[in-house]
Amino acid sequence: AAKDQGRNCRHYFTISMQEAALTRMRLINDLRNALVERQFWLAYQPIVELTTGFIHKAEALIRWQHPTRGLISPADFIPVAETTGMIIDIGEWVFREAAQQAAQWRTKHHNEFQISINKSPVQFQKEDNGHLAWFEHLRELGLPGESVVIEITEGLLMDAGALITGQLLAFRDAGIQVSLDDFGTGYSSLSYLKKFDIDYLKIDQSFTRNLSPDANDLALCEAIIVMAHKLGIKVIAEGIETQEQCDLLMAAGCDYGQGYLFSKPVAAGEFEKLLGAG
Ligand code: C2E
Ligand code: MG
Ligand code: MG
Ligand code: MG
Repeated sequence: AAKDQGRNCRHYFTISMQEAALTRMRLINDLRNALVERQFWLAYQPIVELTTGFIHKAEALIRWQHPTRGLISPADFIPVAETTGMIIDIGEWVFREAAQQAAQWRTKHHNEFQISINKSPVQFQKEDNGHLAWFEHLRELGLPGESVVIEITEGLLMDAGALITGQLLAFRDAGIQVSLDDFGTGYSSLSYLKKFDIDYLKIDQSFTRNLSPDANDLALCEAIIVMAHKLGIKVIAEGIETQEQCDLLMAAGCDYGQGYLFSKPVAAGEFEKLLGAG
């Protein structure tokens, strides 16, 4: 019986592995068409200045409206886009779309409006000086570098060689700011906070989720905020869902908040209403 079971097991795994491979292949194929078929759009989530409630910043978050599967989360397709290299073209699209939107909102709503764009480590691996085209594009739009923030993760800094370091410096020289995303979930080595010039640090939502006056997570948030401020870095707390979390973070001196308490990521038209109200 044990032998039969073993055979069944193998059979089962073979089929499910085939299915997984097939699903992945379909996803890759569909992803190849998504750009030309214009199936991507950007959602914008406000980054709120906690002491004033002002909305002068937003994070652009990609959305994929699949023709048959509906809305697919970036968590499900960004990793595939990264391993296949498709993130390069997708990333270019995100940048252009977000920059153009920022230019509009700068003129119409707030002349210091800033757009945050997630940049994958894969986008830093090309030696084609692609970032120079970004600067050129900003010039064409009449956007100063300060209107763009790139969000990177700890992993990028962890194995940053000359290529990555050089690009980060070029971004800074162009006035573009840098935000360290998902802080606390990676290697959280403090040495690169010293080594790289970082403007914003985003406390990961896994810390804000369980905030309460007596939780260890509050102590961690407080410590991160004090440390960041001493280094001249502003802090953004991600994933704020309740007023209590917001109050605790404000009391801890956190500069900005982002989360469902203020707004979910929304389409451009919807976001514009938030700007109008703020
Ligand atoms: P991220 O950059 O850390 O973005 C924050 C994520 O948290 C977003 O998920 C956002 O919708 C979600 N979020 C915001 N507030 C709350 C809250 O109060 N509660 C909860 N539970 N979640 C909240 P989203 O849009 O699904 O994006 C997931 C990840 O996909 C992003 O994490 C980012 O790493 C990646 N991503 C999204 N857009 C892009 C893009 O244009 N390029 C690249 N390379 N990556 C992207
Ligand atoms: Mg981000
Ligand atoms: Mg994050
Ligand atoms: Mg993330």
